[in-house]
Amino acid sequence: MRVLVISDIHANLAAFEAVLVDAKGEWEKIWFLGDLVGYGPDPNECTELLRELDHIALSGNHDWAVLNRLDMSTFNAEAKYAINWTQETISEETRRYLDALPSVLVEGLFTLAHASPRQPVWEYILDPFTAAINFEFFTTPYCLVGHTHVPVWFEQTADKSVIPYVPQYGRTVTLGESRLIINPGSVGQPRDADPRAAYALLDTETLAWEHRRVTYEISKTQAKMRQHKMPGRLVNRLEYGW
Ligand code: ZN
Repeated sequence: MRVLVISDIHANLAAFEAVLVDAKGEWEKIWFLGDLVGYGPDPNECTELLRELDHIALSGNHDWAVLNRLDMSTFNAEAKYAINWTQETISEETRRYLDALPSVLVEGLFTLAHASPRQPVWEYILDPFTAAINFEFFTTPYCLVGHTHVPVWFEQTADKSVIPYVPQYGRTVTLGESRLIINPGSVGQPRDADPRAAYALLDTETLAWEHRRVTYEISKTQAKMRQHKMPGRLVNRLEYGW
C-alpha cells in the first residue's frame, strides 16, 4: 500500500491542500501523526478535509490541549492564545473527531506515535540520545513520529548507537535492516528554517520512502490569522520556517 505520511497540519488548510495536490495519485491511504489543530486558522476545514480522505490518525499535544486534556502551563503565551481561539472556534463535530483519536497505532512494520513511543504525546526526539532511549519502547522495525516539526531519520546501528540523518528531498530510498525512527516534518508549521510544507511517501510493500517539500500560499494562511487577531509571532514564523 502506498501511504502519504503527514504530521502537524496545525489548522493550516493552504499547506494541507498543497501537499494533497503535490502528492495526487501517489497514495492510497494517509497516516496522520497528530496535531491537526492549534496555531492555524482552519481547524474545522482541516478536520473536514482529512475526514473525507481514507486515513488513520493520531492525536497530538495541541489536540489534547484543545480538549482540556493537558496542563497548558507548558505552552507559551502565543500557543495558549491559539488553543483558546481554537476551543472557541471548533464545531462539536470537530471536537468529537479529535476526542476519538488514539495516541499510538501499530501498522505492520511501523509504530506510529505523535511525539515518541515512550511518551506518545509529550516527548521531543530532537537528538540521538533521546532517540536511543526510545528504540527500547517499540518492537516493530520502524517508528514514525512528528511533534518536533523537523524532518529527520535516526538509525540504530548493530552496536545500538544512533546516527541522525537530515533527509534528502525528492529521492527515494529503501528502508533496510536497521531500525529507524523517522519524522516526516510538519505540513502546517515547519521549524527547520524551510517554510515549505513537509511530507513523505511510503510504500509498505517495497519499503520505498521519499521525503518531500512543497511551497504553498503562506500569505493566504497569514491573512486569515491576522483577521482572527492571532499573535504576530505565530503569523510571521510561517514565512521563516521556525
Ligand atoms: Zn505540533
